[in-house]
Amino acid sequence: LVSRKKKPENTIVNLKGETIGDGKQHFVFGPCAVESYEQVATVAKAMKEKGLKLLRGGAYKPRTSPYDFQGLGVEGLKILKRVADEFDMAVISEIVNPADIEMACDYIDVIQIGARNMQNFELLKAAGAVKKPVLLKRGISATIEEFINAAEYIMAQGNGQIILCERGIRTYERATRNTLDISAVPILKQETHLPVMVDVTHSTGRRDLLLPCAKAAIAIGADGVMAEVHPDPAVALSDAQQQMNLDQFDHFYSELLASNFVK
Ligand code: PEP
Ligand code: MN
Repeated sequence: LVSRKKKPENTIVNLKGETIGDGKQHFVFGPCAVESYEQVATVAKAMKEKGLKLLRGGAYKPRTSPYDFQGLGVEGLKILKRVADEFDMAVISEIVNPADIEMACDYIDVIQIGARNMQNFELLKAAGAVKKPVLLKRGISATIEEFINAAEYIMAQGNGQIILCERGIRTYERATRNTLDISAVPILKQETHLPVMVDVTHSTGRRDLLLPCAKAAIAIGADGVMAEVHPDPAVALSDAQQQMNLDQFDHFYSELLASNFVK
């Protein structure tokens, strides 16, 4: 169902007027994790000033260590909805439990399925059974074929509003947190009709690489870029090393717009 052979024209996912897959670039920013109303609203305000509408933030955080911050749960979803309503933005947030999918639809505009859950088939089926766009991240060690099959699981349940997101894969290379598989972008665009985004934060894990990798993503044909922004990354409860502060975000976004690629 997701194959370009079955449907030659691009699927377009409409998020409050942002039409992902329309050939222009779209941007998703926001903190790694929702920590408080003030924290999310501060980032949303900085985005709004730039005309940006797609806000991310994790309420359920799949952390490597069980002792790390696990997210605010439904309280986090409520904060996201409050901010989105106030700033007229669309919210993207990760859901980790199939039983939470329906409930989450009351609060968020896009269900994110994270890298660690890309082959959680019950979660994929649950996301496929609702009428909400899904942002599906590539698994940490998933091949492109496995990634496409995960999208197929969602679409097989009747939900075709899917955005694919390359977020780096695990390789032997340690210079970056993951290895951004930039060639996955044109392959996914050729093989499927779905929009493809690149998460430059989790793929690189390095602030100094966000801008060049975002430029590369756009140059190679990505429909959008995701990156994490926090009012004060040093005190962030997750991913403190790699989130941009508001000044860095200003610089990142203006440089990206100034590059010749952004439409
Ligand atoms: C995220 O985007 O918040 C996240 C946890 O990313 P990933 O699933 O790609 O690691
Ligand atoms: Mn993060």
